[in-house]
Parts: sequence; structure tokens; C-alpha cells
Amino acid sequence: MQRSLLFCFAHPDDETFLVAGIACLYAERGVRLALATATLGEAGKCGDPPVCTREELPAVRERELRAAARLLGLGEPALLGYRDRELATAPPMEIREKLVTLIRAHRPQVVVTFDPNGSNLHPDHVAISRFTSDAVAAAGDARWFPEAGGAHAVTRLVWTPPSRPWLFARASNLATEPGVDFAFDITRWSDRKAAALRVHRTQHLNTERVFFSQPDVDKLLGLETFRQAFGPALTVRPAHDLFDGIDE
Ligand SMILES: [Zn+2]
Repeated sequence: MQRSLLFCFAHPDDETFLVAGIACLYAERGVRLALATATLGEAGKCGDPPVCTREELPAVRERELRAAARLLGLGEPALLGYRDRELATAPPMEIREKLVTLIRAHRPQVVVTFDPNGSNLHPDHVAISRFTSDAVAAAGDARWFPEAGGAHAVTRLVWTPPSRPWLFARASNLATEPGVDFAFDITRWSDRKAAALRVHRTQHLNTERVFFSQPDVDKLLGLETFRQAFGPALTVRPAHDLFDGIDE
């Protein structure tokens, strides 16, 4: 069985903040990876001093996303074409069909997205969480969009944890942290995660604030954590493999 993993996020840079390390890890293990990004983040910052004008921002952020995705082994992202800060008002049938088509084409055992609070309550993060759950349910039912490929049941849906995932690097014992169901020591790939964060040049204020200005940046860049939405029961939490309990 070809192992396959699909990431569904809202903005260019979500992929780097959240899954850069595990993308490298699973790419190395030969898992087929795919990334869907719902908007071009055109409501975000341009940098200080600005890297580009506001008019140029969507095109620049698309280039940054493509470069980061290549660096992380994610291939060419599927761009869903919604507007930043307006994802919650996407027509449900339309985005359902786009995501179901992707799920049936890639046939992932595991899908990763934001948790229902979108990690930081950003409305686009909350929206992509909801739309991804919706599409995962519909993808397994052949009555939905029969022209979009054969039904495919996702085995495990994985969310980001209930608070900023990298902050768990400061926790003394991950086993006692609710919402940390998977934890990955990604120190082997933290240089690449840092490089991918720097590829998102327009977002340098955020990456500096969250990571590079922190005294324990090495620690923060060395851990990625996730929460199980549904899937095979975990015997140990945190587990260290998103495919834990999923047959070869
Ligand atoms: Zn985001």
C-alpha cells in the first residue's frame, strides 16, 4: 500500500509553521505528500521594510509558498483560490467538491488540518478545519460528486493541538498535555524548517516574533505536535507516527 498524507491549510506559511519537520520526515520515508492551501494570504503583512507592495503581495506569497513547499518535499501545492480573511464564506458545496476531488485523487490514509479553533482562532484556520472535516466525510461516500473519482475513506484525521504547537517544546512532560497525541522530534530537519520560514520573506515579522527572536529558538524549531481527531486508537500518547495502527 502506498502511504499518502494530505495537508489542508489556509495560508502560505501555515505549512512551514506547522508541518515543515514532518513533511521532511515522511518525504524521506517515501510517503506521498500533498498540500492544499486555500488562500494566498493577501491580507497579511508585506514586511518592514516592505518586501513588496500590497498589490504584489498575493503573487509574491504564492512564489514563497511554492519555494517553501519544494524545499519541504511537498511538491506543487493545490491552490483553492479563496480570498484571505473570507474563507469562512466560501460556498460550502464548491469547496467541498474541490477538497473531495483532491482527497480522491491523492487517496491519503491520513489528513492533517487545523483543530476546530484554528490554533489561534484565525477565522480562515477555523474555516479550513471545518471544510476539511466536511470533505473527509463526503469523500468516503460515493453519492457525493461521482464524477470526482472513486470514494475514498480517510483512516485518520489529525488536527494541530489546541494551542500553538511549538510552545509544547517548553512543556516538561508531553505525556500529561491534553491535545498532544503525536509528537515529533524534528531536530534533524530544524535547519530546513528555519530555511523554509525564511523563504516566507514577506512574513519575516511573524517568523522573527514566533521563532527567531526567542532565546530557545532551537527547542521551538525541534518539535512538532498534533492531536488525533479520529482514527485507530492510540495505545501511547504521544505517539510518534501518524500512521500508527494503520496497516501497511
Ligand atoms: Zn495561517
